[in-house]
Amino acid sequence: MTLPLEQYDYVVIGSGLAGLSFAASVAAHGRVAVLTKAEISDSNTQWAQGGIAAAVGEADKWEFHERDTMVAGGGINDPAAVRYLVQHAAESIDWLLSLGANFDREDGELALGMEGGHSQHRIVKHADRTGWEVERTVVHAVRSNPNITVFEKAFVTQLLIENGRCVGAVAEVDLLGLRAFGAKVVLLATGGCGRMYQHTTNPRVATGDGIGLAHDIGAEISEMEFMQFHPTTLYHNQLRSFLITEAVRGAGGTLRNHNGRRFMYDYDPRLELSPRDVVARAIEAEMKKLETWCVYLDTTHLSPELLKHEFPTIWEKLESIDIQMDRDWIPVVPAQHYSCGGVKTDIDGRSSIPGLYAAGEVARTGVHGANRLASNSLLEAMVFARAASVAALEETHVPPERLTVKPAKSVTEADAVRLRRLLQHQTTKGAGIVKTNDGLAETASLIDKLMKEYERLPAAPFSTYSLETRNLIIAAQYVVQGAIDRQANVGLHYNADLVTA
Ligand SMILES: Cc1cc2nc3c(=O)[nH]c(=O)nc-3n(C[C@H](O)[C@H](O)[C@H](O)COP(=O)(O)OP(=O)(O)OC[C@H]3O[C@@H](n4cnc5c(N)ncnc54)[C@H](O)[C@@H]3O)c2cc1C
Repeated sequence: MTLPLEQYDYVVIGSGLAGLSFAASVAAHGRVAVLTKAEISDSNTQWAQGGIAAAVGEADKWEFHERDTMVAGGGINDPAAVRYLVQHAAESIDWLLSLGANFDREDGELALGMEGGHSQHRIVKHADRTGWEVERTVVHAVRSNPNITVFEKAFVTQLLIENGRCVGAVAEVDLLGLRAFGAKVVLLATGGCGRMYQHTTNPRVATGDGIGLAHDIGAEISEMEFMQFHPTTLYHNQLRSFLITEAVRGAGGTLRNHNGRRFMYDYDPRLELSPRDVVARAIEAEMKKLETWCVYLDTTHLSPELLKHEFPTIWEKLESIDIQMDRDWIPVVPAQHYSCGGVKTDIDGRSSIPGLYAAGEVARTGVHGANRLASNSLLEAMVFARAASVAALEETHVPPERLTVKPAKSVTEADAVRLRRLLQHQTTKGAGIVKTNDGLAETASLIDKLMKEYERLPAAPFSTYSLETRNLIIAAQYVVQGAIDRQANVGLHYNADLVTA
């Protein structure tokens, strides 16, 4: 079918920190359409607890932040991207402050938290609701800008290509049907893909749609095997993977096994403040050794005033299920948390397809290398989206007035639910924290079958759940193939059949 393209200067897909930072920055230079598949605030950004890393403390320097980022990333980070990130951290925090962000302060100065892998106190935060505050700030900036039109419940199904250039996107918009949007620049800011696993801290929207969309037009996608698992999410059979931020360990929380032993002594001299991959693997090993479903985070030696003040959301959530942080140990398990890889970009956010930029969790900028340093991702989303907003001003291509569009194929929701469950079960089993050659081969083969089955099944009416499931299957293919191809253990990639590099 042929559709007219509604003309904008910039089309932004996704309304987390990356998408809205770009939209707010570029709007002075043209009309912007933000397409987002749920409500504007539905995003990983909204759920971020810990904060934003920035070397803004008196004793800190960007060089220290750079070193910590490279160490966490196993040294395979892109050094130029890391330097760009850490050198632009302070000005990005200033930018958020100028938009009205309210961060914790002590004697008038920003109160900086400490997290695993950081050598300095450098986490800018809003108690344990930093993501909420950051999202509130950028949503307000975007909502009050007349040059930006936000389309909520607008599910992007396709990126439009003309002569090898991305010229727009197609979205199924609630109540309006299939609409096509043209622009000189399209920014992909669709966030993560955590929903491919059984246990994830990511909200429902994190279904790897950007990976599916970029894959369909042949954009380069890389390093998806570097999947971060958060070591400490609440273990509870009814609450889904509620995150207990790293900052709780930063404040002095300790990890204990079923016997009460502080087991991190057996794994790493950095103890509970070791990088996340080290802590997650230690927890998994401990659970296997003692045949238990969880380990415990002990905060009973910390003052209730401090706990309530620093972690109000966690305190409240735990209290609602009868866990008192100052009296009880908190049962925790690791869960998928962050995707380091994604659509490959340069420092200005350009993907391998002209006209298509990417920023935030969907992008692979190179800053994380083999592992993301805690609280570097909100920073990355903001810094590179803002860099992209400057580079985008140079683009002048005029999109066509009409283009042929191929409606995406949905399958029935019952089939999609079944395929997604099978996928989640297998990725958790074969492409999780500790991998093996056999597990990866089995997972690759099942994913292949799931994709073939999706293609074979009869077409059904449009369903976001179904298209998200297809995107998850595509993203999982990259995760598994990346893990098969990577023949040395580094950072988050740990294959028990390889000798540790
Ligand atoms: C529980 C939790 C805690 C975290 N804590 C921290 C922290 O303390 N510090 C830190 O730095 N990072 C943290 N992170 C990671 C960080 O929040 C994310 O990496 C970051 O917010 C990603 O921002 P983003 O803009 O790229 O994506 P998101 O914020 O996830 O936004 C993606 C957007 O794309 C939209 N979208 C997706 N697919 C489509 C589609 N097909 N069509 C239209 N719209 C679509 C979504 O609806 C959403 O609006 C945390 C993550 C989680 C889940």
